[in-house]
Amino acid sequence: MNAVVKPELESRTASFLSRTHKLFINNEWVEPESGKAIDVINPATGKVFARAAAGGAADIDKAVRAARAAFESGPWPSMPPIERAQLIWKLADAVEAAADEIGYILSLDNGMPMMMAKFAGALGTARNLRYMAGWCGKIDGAVPTTAEPNKLAYTLKDPVGVVGAITPWNFPFAMEADKVGQAMASGCTLVLKPAELTPLGAILLARLVQEAGIPPGVINIVTGYGDPAGKALVEHPDVDKITFTGSTATGKWIVQAAAATLKRVTLELGGKSPTFIFPDADLERAIPGAAMSVFANAGQICVAGSRLYVHKKVFDQVVEGVSGMAKRLKVGPGLEPDSQMGPLISQRQLERVTGYIESGKTEGAQVVVGGGRRAGEGYFLNPTVLAQTHRSMKVMREEIFGPVVCAMPMDDDDLDRIAKIANDTTYGLSAYIWSRDVSIVHKLARKIKAGTVQVNGGVGLDPAVPFGGYKQSGWGRERGRDGIESLTETKAIGISL
Ligand code: NAD
Repeated sequence: MNAVVKPELESRTASFLSRTHKLFINNEWVEPESGKAIDVINPATGKVFARAAAGGAADIDKAVRAARAAFESGPWPSMPPIERAQLIWKLADAVEAAADEIGYILSLDNGMPMMMAKFAGALGTARNLRYMAGWCGKIDGAVPTTAEPNKLAYTLKDPVGVVGAITPWNFPFAMEADKVGQAMASGCTLVLKPAELTPLGAILLARLVQEAGIPPGVINIVTGYGDPAGKALVEHPDVDKITFTGSTATGKWIVQAAAATLKRVTLELGGKSPTFIFPDADLERAIPGAAMSVFANAGQICVAGSRLYVHKKVFDQVVEGVSGMAKRLKVGPGLEPDSQMGPLISQRQLERVTGYIESGKTEGAQVVVGGGRRAGEGYFLNPTVLAQTHRSMKVMREEIFGPVVCAMPMDDDDLDRIAKIANDTTYGLSAYIWSRDVSIVHKLARKIKAGTVQVNGGVGLDPAVPFGGYKQSGWGRERGRDGIESLTETKAIGISL
């Protein structure tokens, strides 16, 4: 392990990292039926540093039964909303208190810089949980004015029931805790299957769920592979809703599998988001903003601004600025205090991303900076800027999910044509506009087909703001009122007066 790591964190987490973790069902730690474990690899070294249970269909069944029992009986269904909110706050407090350990372990698990893991991963999560706690007592129905006189109708928002959550590896812990917070706030119970590449965030979360005193069966965590564990969760007849974050390919499979039981499904999928920089933009902010929207977390961000369109008047200046940032970014293990960008998650992901860079080169793109991996151990790739790209190239059409940005000059001022460029993709997750002209900003934002449009930096991932995608970037929304309502059923009650 790295010499610069704070020794106290190393010793505080040593026993956690040395054991083979079990499954968390009904607030108990249980062995998986298979008796097998997943080797967890530190992407900065390529070496195994922890082990987590490889859960399967039988374990999922056990977890679903625990979640069903907790949903139907016990303290959860009759708990006053304010008490549910207090439990979510307790969980948030526990997350905050453990922020250093969480940051340290997430950095090993996923490779991201430790400070990012601590602030975005742990402290950001505590904030989001507290936001969600506020919803517990505010999930209201309505009183529609009926078409017929002498009738009274009102609606209730019932919790949807047992929720199956499946998460990817790019933001472990935060992604899982968000799903936990929303499920608890809406009164549901949950079975969570985290990504097999990064199971430790969810295991940490399970320990905090236990510490916060959340009743047994409300939150259950089954680590394991997509097939069999994720698959069994999607196919389970007693799961009412699947909330999935991951690739579009898996999302499509989930839709087909969920059809057998007509489960409700929310999908948060991939993206190929455009960034537009207009000549009047504040370039001092736009350049680092555009760069970090695709280099942060080694580009493994669903909302990465991976297609960079810059007005021809400032194109050279912006490409030079973004390339300069790419050159200066300190790439290294997340536990080194000065690292700004960690490794990619796996050898497979490294090969996938370098494959895209090669395909860009073959199709005529110019590598302005980066393009190669870093020598030595781990899955490090230098931040890469490609120019002379074209809409027909694979690098411009497919999600790369790595630190690679494709820059294109924009010699147009016609917003309809610019919007057409933005929408020239099967995805529709996010878009970025950098301009000081309110007219450009509002007109273009309306024309773009994306779930989120960020202007001059925008809102980031604020828990109050609905998040999700148009087109093949997903179904439905998480966060804010939309996220809560996505975990409810509307019941209409009609009375003849
Ligand atoms: P993935 O689809 O390969 O895996 C995601 C999860 O699905 C994992 O837990 C995996 O075990 C599970 N899974 C795989 N096959 C399954 C199956 N047949 N049934 C049930 N579960 C199954 O995605 P990934 O590579 O882990 O994540 C990267 C993708 O996630 C990218 O496309 C990225 O854009 C997307 N993502 C989207 C958002 C968003 O909010 N829109 C956020 C983060 C990541």
